[in-house]
Amino acid sequence: MSAKPTVVVSRCLEFAPVRYDGQIIESPVVRRLKRFVKFVPICPEMEIGLGVPRPKIRLVENGQSLTLWQPSSGRDLTLKIRNFSRSFLTSLEEVDGFILKSRSPSCGIRGTKIFSNGSDNSHLRRGQGFFAEAVLRAYPAVAIEDEDRLLDPDRFDHFLTKLFAVARCRHVKSRISVPLLNQFHTENQLLYRAYNMTEQRYLNLIVQAASRNPCEMLRSEYERHFHHLIFKRPRYTSHAKVMEEIVALLWHKIRSRDKPIIKRLLNRYRNRDLPLSPLRMAMRELVLKFGDADLKRQTYLKPYPVELELIPER
Ligand code: SF4
Repeated sequence: MSAKPTVVVSRCLEFAPVRYDGQIIESPVVRRLKRFVKFVPICPEMEIGLGVPRPKIRLVENGQSLTLWQPSSGRDLTLKIRNFSRSFLTSLEEVDGFILKSRSPSCGIRGTKIFSNGSDNSHLRRGQGFFAEAVLRAYPAVAIEDEDRLLDPDRFDHFLTKLFAVARCRHVKSRISVPLLNQFHTENQLLYRAYNMTEQRYLNLIVQAASRNPCEMLRSEYERHFHHLIFKRPRYTSHAKVMEEIVALLWHKIRSRDKPIIKRLLNRYRNRDLPLSPLRMAMRELVLKFGDADLKRQTYLKPYPVELELIPER
């Protein structure tokens, strides 16, 4: 089961030279994803009428309130960006993720400098840009990252796993069919085990109840628990356990001379000496060779297109 994810992206990342200084930002992650997702590029600062090039804007904290301020003109743009964010986000029909420009006063999901006034160059603290804050509030369950953090291989893997899983879940929900829900649930069993076994147990119960009495409420419950399950990146020890379970299932079929190689790969992963994706590639090969049909269908072994598995270049 596959579904192409929809991703809202800061337009200055690879799409158009809309930065305040007329620049475009190169992002190997966004470039690589272009073939595999449907991007919706947006520049909140252009949308509120700021041109290119434009004088810089900044976040200013005054007492309890945060404002979006343009020091050169003395304009307070807070209301404009709030109104734009609300109307844009409510107009989106479907979305599975966001990739936003790091540290921007509009798009930064973390690390944006917050100043005490329009002229001081030393910042008080760091926080979120206005558009990013509205995104995180409106879409707590989808995959959200900035382009900078996605250069970390583990974060990139979790982001893609979540993004494609959320898109598949949305696809299943839109079809409203118990067989499709059962198929989705079965194909995700190993993924669920790696992510969160408590939520997996809830999902098992919901699927059992839905097959007796299919109703919209149960499907919404499934989606809610699914989003809880996929929210947080699993610990590497959880991945190691699932990989070991796969090996244990196939152990009797693996040739004796290959067994030490597989043990070595697992040990290297446990010792944090090997990233997840090469281990997963090796497991996928094993399963293709020796696994049964159920195991071959597990999304855990191919949570997103294999072309994306290589570590992003800097
Ligand atoms: S960071 Fe956001 S607001 Fe700033 S140029 Fe990029 S898309 Fe536009």
